[in-house]
Amino acid sequence: MPLAPYACDPARTRGRRFDEPAAPTRTEFQRDRDRIVHSTAFRRLVYKTQVFLNHEGDLFRTRLTHSLEVAQLGRSIARPLGLNEDLVEAIALAHDLGHTPFGHAGQDALDECMREHGGFEHNLQSLRVVDALEERYPRFDGLNLCFETREGILKHCSRANAVRLEAQEPGGVGRRFLDRTQPSLEAQLCNLADEVAYNAHDIDDGVRSGLITLQQVREVPLFDCFCAETEAEFPALGGRRLLYEATRRMLSAQVYDVIDATRAALEAARPADADAARAAPPLLKFSEGMRQHSGSLKTFLFRNLYRHPQVQGTTHQARRVVRELFDAYRTQPSQMQPDFAARADSVRAVADYIAGMTDRFAAREHERLTGTRIIDSGSRIGS
Ligand code: MG
Repeated sequence: MPLAPYACDPARTRGRRFDEPAAPTRTEFQRDRDRIVHSTAFRRLVYKTQVFLNHEGDLFRTRLTHSLEVAQLGRSIARPLGLNEDLVEAIALAHDLGHTPFGHAGQDALDECMREHGGFEHNLQSLRVVDALEERYPRFDGLNLCFETREGILKHCSRANAVRLEAQEPGGVGRRFLDRTQPSLEAQLCNLADEVAYNAHDIDDGVRSGLITLQQVREVPLFDCFCAETEAEFPALGGRRLLYEATRRMLSAQVYDVIDATRAALEAARPADADAARAAPPLLKFSEGMRQHSGSLKTFLFRNLYRHPQVQGTTHQARRVVRELFDAYRTQPSQMQPDFAARADSVRAVADYIAGMTDRFAAREHERLTGTRIIDSGSRIGS
């Protein structure tokens, strides 16, 4: 499939922060994807919480498997639309690199700890990982990724941080949050693929954990319709296979919906190139009906899974671990690895150090520094 005119073309990239010679056989976005896969932060994703803590069960999604699912969905949508698959994959694989241990609980706790010091945003942290924190190259910090990949990684950003970014890098990745324009279509696609992926896999993980039932998920009209369709075709089917088949059909319907709705939007707007697509309103989207369905699915998961007393219980413990780690390193920076302990920006160094931790390393460090075991790495929910 040739690239559409509105796709990001690696031959016309806005470039890297530090100039490098082109690779003989790979495009610039393929190279970015490869750099991300080889990074330390990428390997840590396997031990980071998506919804369920990493040790709660071997079959739950982690940040790594989530990122792979986002990349898969992203590529499936990118190809028929003529978008750049390599760029989509690079953004998808990197989009959660800045996540703290323990999922959103960890991020909220770290943001609170950092309130007086510029706060903590996981999207901005993902950018910090690829721009500054990875140490792999002799001539620069970070992975020196292309503008287009960095643009996609910075999914959200507060105005205050956008102003800061714009001062460091005029016309760079912070700019669109001040101009209120869109990122590339590839970046828009990753945002949507992220939502499609977690809505579907959180149903699967939720049912697997026993915290929600298949019957309960059928309150969601979109899911129920594919469940009913599956039952009509396979009356004897039940349990996990019914769950998987209904989820599979729901995923396919969402993928095809995005492709159709986006094709229609692109035909109406006819963006001449990637920059014209950035200047247009969001073109990569669900149909209005599917957008509402996806919203009700998300609401269901909030009410029944993310706010489930058992999930809330671990959330509470995770926040305490992060808070107490933060206090411990603030008073004793020498307890961190030497390159973090030596940094002049000591508070940010503590945040970077904690954000980079896997769930189990954070739990172990917390026990070592406080003598209290809050998160028991032996406990398991479901199978
Ligand atoms: Mg994600």
